[in-house]
Amino acid sequence: MNSTPEFFDAPERASAATALAAAFRDAFGTDPAGVWSAPGRVNLVGEHVDYTGGLCLPLALPHRTFVALNPRADGVVRVRSRQEAAGEVVVTLADVGAGSPDGWAAYVAGVPWAMGRKGFDGDLLTGGFDALVDGHVPYGSGLSSSAALECAVAVALGDLLGAPLDDAGRAALAGACVLAENVVAGANTGGMDQAASLRCHEGGAILLDTRDDTVSQVALDLAGAGLALLVVDTRAEHSHAGGEYGQRRADVERAAEILGVPTLREVDPADLDAALERVGSAPDGDVLRRRVRHAVTEIDRVARTAELLRAGRAGDVGGLLDASHDSLRDDYEVSCRELDLTVDVARAHGALGARMTGGGFGGSAIALVAADRVGAVADAVAAAFAEQDLRAPRFLAALPSEGAGRDL
Ligand code: ADP
Ligand code: MG
Repeated sequence: MNSTPEFFDAPERASAATALAAAFRDAFGTDPAGVWSAPGRVNLVGEHVDYTGGLCLPLALPHRTFVALNPRADGVVRVRSRQEAAGEVVVTLADVGAGSPDGWAAYVAGVPWAMGRKGFDGDLLTGGFDALVDGHVPYGSGLSSSAALECAVAVALGDLLGAPLDDAGRAALAGACVLAENVVAGANTGGMDQAASLRCHEGGAILLDTRDDTVSQVALDLAGAGLALLVVDTRAEHSHAGGEYGQRRADVERAAEILGVPTLREVDPADLDAALERVGSAPDGDVLRRRVRHAVTEIDRVARTAELLRAGRAGDVGGLLDASHDSLRDDYEVSCRELDLTVDVARAHGALGARMTGGGFGGSAIALVAADRVGAVADAVAAAFAEQDLRAPRFLAALPSEGAGRDL
């Protein structure tokens, strides 16, 4: 079987935006008011802790979702996506709410609805708009194409409304996007994806504290350290993922309740043994113990990774990435065969560290590798998938990129 690795490249930003403006003219017969875009993201470490007050360390990908948009005044959102062959979707803004509209247009029409509920103000939020979308973040790969789409729409609307686009303004937009995703799209997710898409800067990751939504920038000069961050989209998708996600959230909420703390962030890693003993006496104590151990040690790993990066020691974080994967696989039980295979093969072929990233049960893994080993690691992973008759994985180079903004 042919196992030449397929790399999924990001188009050049300016030309993608110009092409989309021309396509908008063809589709809607007028120029758009502008073109905006927002990136997908990959999380370096800090997985499954954004709903328990934890820390995470995502960076924006060079892969972006673009939106060309023009305001209307009749309360209608008319939207097309180059990734959705079924064609135009027309939504009356007055009908937007929980679970409505269904399908992909929820990630578009949900945004003005949510911005209105989050204190943004302006005719645009009720007047509607025409929009044409072009996404370069693969769907359902754990790289957050959904947040890229919401955040591209949010930054477009925010910009046209004259809302501040400093970090505080972006945090407010991120909050609206989370609300749109949770309520309108009906996807029960934490806040990491939208924060990354809106608040990251080129050349760095953000250390996001999900307890209070504060962000600090962490420089990540991979090239300067002779390193690369290889993303492996396993293209595996396991259908039970949504239910398991809800179950994990319920587990950590119950564990926090037993421990008498609002979130597991409040458990000091130095007191972990005592906490494990307490939750261990519940009827399903063994499961809860492992969930708590993952959350508390994972949050600690994020803090330690950020410290190393700040000390210019990107080459030393591999062990923390490995430990994160092992914890997600064994204690949190959210990995799967394809993710474990990727991580094992990457490590065996010289990766400094490798782990699943995103929600798990499929999606993507990352490997921190010496820049001159990227090809060799990708070859080895592709060959291992072919040998086991798995669907061919896809590869992306994660260069820390700029958050959402205006292109044209
Ligand atoms: P992920 O965010 O990990 O890629 P999700 O299931 O959360 O996966 O979001 C994927 C969904 O987001 C798609 O099924 C589609 O509904 C919507 N979406 C993302 N990008 C686009 C796009 N370019 N055009 C239309 N819909 C999109
Ligand atoms: Mg998503």
